[in-house]
Amino acid sequence: MAVVSIRKEILEAIIQHAIEDVPLECCGLLMGQGNLITHLRRMKNALQSPIRYAMEPQALLHFFKEVRSLQLNHLGIYHSHPTSDAYPSSIDTEQAYYPDCTYFIASLRAPLSPSVRAFSIVNEIVREKEIQVVD
Ligand SMILES: [Zn+2]
Repeated sequence: MAVVSIRKEILEAIIQHAIEDVPLECCGLLMGQGNLITHLRRMKNALQSPIRYAMEPQALLHFFKEVRSLQLNHLGIYHSHPTSDAYPSSIDTEQAYYPDCTYFIASLRAPLSPSVRAFSIVNEIVREKEIQVVD
């Protein structure tokens, strides 16, 4: 299994965002260097939906400018599944436009024990990645 590395506080921030936005799906973008995710930017779920998410084009543009100015790379995208498993839905898979990114999904299906899983999605093929948490 391929490995993705992420700082502990970023992983915790994904879960925190997911909890805050219940019952809606939350979403956000991740940046870092090499294979290590070090920064998170919350994004607004333009759909304000409990089962889908989308980011606003203007907000995406702003993010990509920031990535460049920080000399980092866009490494990941996260969103939450408030009531379903941490696995990409068919829409998630169809709309995965970033083959080089890692897709993180936080599930609150078990509200007291949130789970996060990571995937690469290339040409609608989903492959799970091992999450390596870095202190
Ligand atoms: Zn989803």
